[in-house]
Amino acid sequence: MSQMNWPDIEAQLYLRTFRRIPLTITRGEGTRVWDDEGREYLDFVAGWAVNALGHCHPVLVEAIERQARTLIHTSNQFYTIPQLELAALLVQHSCLDRVFFCNSGVEAAEGAVKLARRFGKLHLNGAYEVITAGDSFHGRTLAMTAATAQEKYQQLYTPLPPGFVNVEWNNAQAIRDATVPHTCAVMLEPLQGEAGVRIPDSDYLRQVQEWCDQKGILLILDEVQTGIGRTGTLFGYEQAGVEPDILILAKGLASGVPIGAFLAKEHVSVFQPGDHGSTFGGNPLACAAAFAVVNHIIENNIPGHVQRIGTRFLDLLNELTREFPVAKEARGRGLLLALVLERDIADEITLSCLHHGLLINRVRPNAIRFMPPLITTDDDIDEAMSILRTVLASV
Ligand SMILES: *Cc1c(COP(=O)(O)O)cnc(C)c1O
Repeated sequence: MSQMNWPDIEAQLYLRTFRRIPLTITRGEGTRVWDDEGREYLDFVAGWAVNALGHCHPVLVEAIERQARTLIHTSNQFYTIPQLELAALLVQHSCLDRVFFCNSGVEAAEGAVKLARRFGKLHLNGAYEVITAGDSFHGRTLAMTAATAQEKYQQLYTPLPPGFVNVEWNNAQAIRDATVPHTCAVMLEPLQGEAGVRIPDSDYLRQVQEWCDQKGILLILDEVQTGIGRTGTLFGYEQAGVEPDILILAKGLASGVPIGAFLAKEHVSVFQPGDHGSTFGGNPLACAAAFAVVNHIIENNIPGHVQRIGTRFLDLLNELTREFPVAKEARGRGLLLALVLERDIADEITLSCLHHGLLINRVRPNAIRFMPPLITTDDDIDEAMSILRTVLASV
């Protein structure tokens, strides 16, 4: 198979949606992947912050194998046990009371907004509008493209569904000013991953929550990227000292098996049978996988590990900013970190890291992002740092 030119085949067959990196990955184990010619790479992209337990973790593989032999799919007309076991686990370890499962982050975000609008119709005189923050990212459906305040995603697809208003990020007053009688919710990421790992002021989310409580509108937190241990606590909101009314999860939830979820507080859980649904959402295979992942993360205090190793990684990245003028700023939390560069050379650095056996993500023209598996070790970090030093020394 290694004689096949997969990039050429892709260029002929696939819609031109992805700016792909010239690497065909055929196998993964732990923090490593291998390409079609057998070369090994240290994977600090982890499927876009998805492979929480790394690649093909035995706990996940075993759960998938066992469930695949037992029951893969029925339908949501019937009760299935993995779905309810996963629901119980998430409810027990979060501040939310009820859950709905779907298949991706954007679907979970759509569902969360539908629930907020349903709540608005019932309890806020028909309020429907959702306030979102500049440079946010909530996914790629038409409605979430409207919610995602990045013009580059929006222009191409107008007209977009109305009902979203975008305000400046990290500015609670902007949210207060934008709140009108038809506002039903504010939707934010606890820290903005796609925007380049931007952390808000420590009291931003608390101020927003106070405002939402005062107005009776809902706080929706999109933790698709920050949830499930990524930032050093099971959920990012724990560190902000707030409790969302609706919480959106996906990426790391099943460490690579497609699943999304939104959770809601009891008083917000206003859906009635028929209001929302999903064919695949919550199916036994995905839920058994997610249960194994989340249970493993909690039982082994992986968020604690992420906190320790993420702090060390950030310290080391800060050292780079002192050593290399081109490295301007290191930032992030847990194992969601970015290095901001002096110039727009993130593409060049990403490619150079690739050639040295390290996968990283160019998150902005002038910023690279690290989101390694949560099980990353000190040795992995040291190896990544050594490659980064080599690469930065050569640009
Ligand atoms: C990735 C992401 C999404 C979209 O998730 P998909 O599974 O790609 O639909 C939504 N919100 C945030 C914060 C994300 O990082």
